Formats: sequence, C-alpha cells, structure tokens
Amino acid sequence: MRILIIGGGCAGLTVGLRLQQTLRARLRSGEDEITVVEPQPYLTYHPLLAEVAAGTIDPRHVVVPLRRTLSGCRVLTARVTRVDHAGRRVRIDAAPPGEQGLLTELPYDLLVMAPGSVSRTAPVPGLAEHGLGFASVGEAVGLRNHVLEQLDLASTTRDPELRQAALTFVFVGAGYAGVGALAELEDMARYATKGYHNLDAEDLRWVLVEATDRILPEESAELAAHTLAELRERSIDVRLGTTLESAADRLMVLSDGSRFAARTLVWTAGIRPAPLLNATDLPLVGNGRIRCLPTLQVSTPDGRPLPDAWSAGDCAAVPDPAADGSPCAPNAQHALAQAELLAANVLAALDGRPLRDYRPERQVCSTSLGVGRAVAHTGRGPLTGRRAWWLHRARHLRRMPSTERRVRILTDWLLAGLFRREVVSLGSVEHPRAEFEAGFADDRPGPRGGR
Ligand SMILES: Cc1cc2nc3c(=O)[nH]c(=O)nc-3n(C[C@H](O)[C@H](O)[C@H](O)COP(=O)(O)OP(=O)(O)OC[C@H]3O[C@@H](n4cnc5c(N)ncnc54)[C@H](O)[C@@H]3O)c2cc1C
Repeated sequence: MRILIIGGGCAGLTVGLRLQQTLRARLRSGEDEITVVEPQPYLTYHPLLAEVAAGTIDPRHVVVPLRRTLSGCRVLTARVTRVDHAGRRVRIDAAPPGEQGLLTELPYDLLVMAPGSVSRTAPVPGLAEHGLGFASVGEAVGLRNHVLEQLDLASTTRDPELRQAALTFVFVGAGYAGVGALAELEDMARYATKGYHNLDAEDLRWVLVEATDRILPEESAELAAHTLAELRERSIDVRLGTTLESAADRLMVLSDGSRFAARTLVWTAGIRPAPLLNATDLPLVGNGRIRCLPTLQVSTPDGRPLPDAWSAGDCAAVPDPAADGSPCAPNAQHALAQAELLAANVLAALDGRPLRDYRPERQVCSTSLGVGRAVAHTGRGPLTGRRAWWLHRARHLRRMPSTERRVRILTDWLLAGLFRREVVSLGSVEHPRAEFEAGFADDRPGPRGGR
C-alpha cells in the first residue's frame, strides 16, 4: 500500500504521525509506504505566529521539522502540481522557488489531500507594492522588524508627515491572522515606545479594516463580540463594513471616505482553498473545497465515497453536525481533530472495520491579544484578561504536534516572564548581502582617483 499525503501542515502531519505509529512494522518491512509531499521541510503552527511577531516565541519554535517527526515516512520537499486520481498518480515539482521545474510523476494507492488554504488577494491599487502578508514565519519576522523600524524612523525624522505615516498601522481583514497580529504588535509597540525619548503609545494609530459586519468569522459570535470590545477599549480603530479602495503611494483610501497616509499595510483579508485543488479530478463544492463525507472520505457528487481518496483540514468541506451540516470552519481545531479521525478511519478501512463520522467536540475558542491579555469562551461563558491568556496558551501548547517544540515554547514563555521584552529591529538579517555589496560599490574607482 503506497499512501500519499499532500501537505505537511496541521492535518497532513497529524495523519502521517498516527499512520506511522500504527503501521510501524509494515513500514519497516517495506510492505507499506507513506510519502508526504510538502514544499517546506517543516509544519508551521499558524496560531502562534502572532507571538513570533511580538517576539515572545523564537521563530524556529513554531515550526516542526517533518523529517525528524515523520521518521518512518518518506518526506519530499516539493509541490504537487497536478492530481490525477483516476490514474492514481500526481505530478510534483521539486525545484526551489524561482528555479526551473524538476518535474516527476509519483504513483500511489491511497491519497490524503491536506494542502490547506492560501491568503486571498484583491486588485487594490498599491497593494502589491506596499502590502505585507501574514501567513508564514518569514512574514511574521519581517513584520516585527518593519514595525520596529517605523518607530526608529518616527523618532529620528523631523518631517511631521513622515512621522505620522510611520506611526500609522493598517490591517485589512479581521480573521485570526489580522486580529492576532494587530493585537500582539500593538501590545509590543506600546511597550517599545518606552525606550524612545520622543514617542508615546498614544502617538501610534492602529486601524483594522473589515468588509463584513463582524470580526473573527472562524469563531463564535460571542467571542468575536468580546474581542471587538477589548480592541476598541485599547483605542484600536476597528472599521466594520469598510473596504480598502486604494493604497497607491502609501495613501490609504477607505470606502467610508477617509484617507490617510500609512507606511504599514498588512493584508489578511480572507483565505481560499489551496490553488492545487483546481488541478485535480476530485469533486469540489461551490467555494472550491473538496466535497467530503462525514467519514472524511472524498465524496462523489451523488454522495458516495470516491475510492481511495480522503481529505481533512482547510481544503476539505466536511459537514459540521453542530452547524446543520454546513462545512466546518477552517481552523486548527477542526484540522487536527479531522486528521486524527481520518487516520483512524483509514486504518479501519484497511482492516475492514466500520468507519466513524466526524463529530467535533464542543469548541473552546480563544484569541490572544498581547502579553497577559486574551479573550476565551468556554462551556461556562466568557473569560478575559490573564485567566483567558493562560487558557489560550495551554490550549495551543497541548495542540502543538511535537513534545520537543512544546518544551521549547514553554521555555520561551518562561524566559519572557523573567527578562524585559526584546524590542530591537533586526531588519538587516533580511538583506544579509547588503553590507557586502555596499563594500564593492565603495571600492569602485571614483572621480577622485579611486580606491
Ligand atoms: C496567521 C494565522 C493565524 C491563525 N490562527 C489560528 C488560531 O488562532 N486558531 C485556529 O484554530 N486556527 C488559526 N489559523 C488557521 C489554522 O492555522 C488553519 O486552519 C490550519 O493550519 C489548517 O490546517 P491544514 O493542515 O488544513 O492547513 P496548513 O496547516 O496550512 O497546511 C497545509 C500545508 O499544505 C502545503 N501545501 C499547499 N499546497 C501544496 C501543494 N501543492 N503540494 C504540497 N503541499 C502543499 C502547505 O505548504 C502547508 O504546509 C490561523 C491561520 C493563520 C494563517
């Protein structure tokens, strides 16, 4: 049995882990084979990215190396570009980004689709030039450095307009990524201003622009309402029912008629299923996710299981019994729970045992809003402040799919509690060759006679 898992994120890694634990002997003897194809050599645990941006977690600790964790599986650092399920084969491209394709075909017997989702972009003037994303470790570190550089710039310049633009931070999209990143960075920047002789936390302007009438669509309405109240209490300017019309020349033009200059524009306006889904022969539902049965088997349009095809996570439209059968929200809690069941059902199917349906436990929801600040909703009602913050941290620590990473993150949090927060920009690490290249420019023979 050749099992192919596409995507090594929350769902893909969990399926791989559970299958390798049970099939260990058969994998060793070569009877079975599990291959995981993932463009990054690691899983990124997105719910803690905002803490990477805030500097409370080391960037390397929110990623889980796939080869070490999935030691019984074959891990290919590559991107799947086409799935031909009828022919039981995929095409993969193993070339590093920006290089010519190293294309190969890979046959399989059983397919697990878990390529997740990607950020949705929009044709807003100026967005491509000035916008920053927030979905990867690189973007989280880059955004942290960028925000701290703006504080340095505002403190140094004598131009009041430049200072105002440097101190204005605009986030578009109020889902997990936008709310988490804004709240954590606002908290960090507020703290960082204490180190500047001419900056106050009140000089900073934070604007959250959201097209719909609520924030956090992935979470319960109660949690969203509490989070909104917390953000507004912190003087964060949340504009609901508003869109960004233009960001050309770093001038933000909003649909409510307001215009202001801002040197920071973070685009986190929604997600869409991984583009790979359009290059498969698997049945999709209206919003482009894979049609799934409650057993996590891929479903034919007339509701029968498509042989040898399974799916979980953001890319899968799995009916949620708690929401009258409409698809589960794309969040880590569902992705991890679906992956556990998917692996159990694959093993049951191989043994000829009956399959179980996906019935998620009641979701405990929480969102972190900075050091010591969070909002959570448990079965017993809403929680805010430190208790919510501890609950939020405990939930994510438990879900992190690696014991070693859990210990490292816990150590980061303990150290952050012992020492003062680190708020220095290391923007130069993003351009490691800049100084070296500048040296060559200085050495070039000039009008005054040269070297
Ligand atoms: C910034 C941010 C913050 C978030 N915060 C929260 C939170 O607080 N709580 C919460 O519950 N959820 C949160 N989420 C959502 C959560 O991270 C996702 O719902 C979850 O990761 C989905 O798991 P997945 O396995 O489906 O996708 P992912 O974990 O995204 O994994 C998909 C993997 O597939 C790979 N892949 C994509 N295309 C291909 C291809 N063609 N070939 C091979 N591999 C491919 C990708 O590289 C990726 O590693 C957040 C998301 C983001 C971006």
